[in-house]
Amino acid sequence: MPEPNTPISTSANAANGNRLSIENVAKDFMSKNGPVAALQETSLVVSEGEFVTILGPSGCGKSTLLRIIGGLEQATSGRVAFKGKVLSGPGSDRGMVFQSYTLFPWLTVQDNISFGLELKGAGKKQRAEIAHYYLELIGLEGFENHYPIQLSGGMKQRVAIARALANDPEILLMDEPFGALDAQTRLIMQEVLLKAWEGSRKTILFVTHDVDESVFLGDTVYVMTARPGKIKKMMHVPFERPRRYELKHTKAFFEMTQELLDQIREESFKAL
Ligand code: ADP
Repeated sequence: MPEPNTPISTSANAANGNRLSIENVAKDFMSKNGPVAALQETSLVVSEGEFVTILGPSGCGKSTLLRIIGGLEQATSGRVAFKGKVLSGPGSDRGMVFQSYTLFPWLTVQDNISFGLELKGAGKKQRAEIAHYYLELIGLEGFENHYPIQLSGGMKQRVAIARALANDPEILLMDEPFGALDAQTRLIMQEVLLKAWEGSRKTILFVTHDVDESVFLGDTVYVMTARPGKIKKMMHVPFERPRRYELKHTKAFFEMTQELLDQIREESFKAL
């Protein structure tokens, strides 16, 4: 296994021209009391179609890292490159899903999903077809004419995921998207997301503080240190896909999550 925090270059990655490469990215925020180090130099390489989960204690810089990749925040040093080109701002190649529901309240479910398509110039018929495909995928057919206020938290987040996928980004950046949901809805949403992902195999970077979630969803789990965060450990998740809920009851799943839990617990104490 490569040393944590050095660019990980496997032969598979080397052959993968569409990889996302995060190279020595660090971030200091300026505050009234001087600079606040949010993220130490962090490097990782994500292959096309890889589902990466990032675990870390609160405040360690997970969101900052994701926002830098999304082009919403500028790194103090280092760079992010995709397909060999340095990224310098937001772009339609990257979609984001946040913890808070970011739907437009004045648009119906269908119009929320197809909003980005309209900006891209897709016609009405094409927009409706794509929206229906994703509505079915997330199990919300029949809700196309509802407004966000008429939906539960889990339903709203399903629409947010459908909207991000409908825009057909090459990379999906997900910042604790299930963090505000109750435990039962969260479990269901994990399966909904996996089902949607199986159909598209987008590259995903998914930030979470839930160890079970990181293993159940990811191909690779990165654990970050306490703030200012950097990558402390990388683990490949060996479980075959498609994954089902029952996986969580297996000994191998338990052992892997325990190992990660020990790592994250240590960092959470440091964060305190
Ligand atoms: P996480 O997502 O791991 O909880 P964040 O990336 O949100 O952590 O934040 C990392 C650190 O940077 C935290 O200490 C936070 O308070 C600080 N921080 C985040 N955004 C800003 C900002 N805009 N200005 C100043 N400090 C910030």
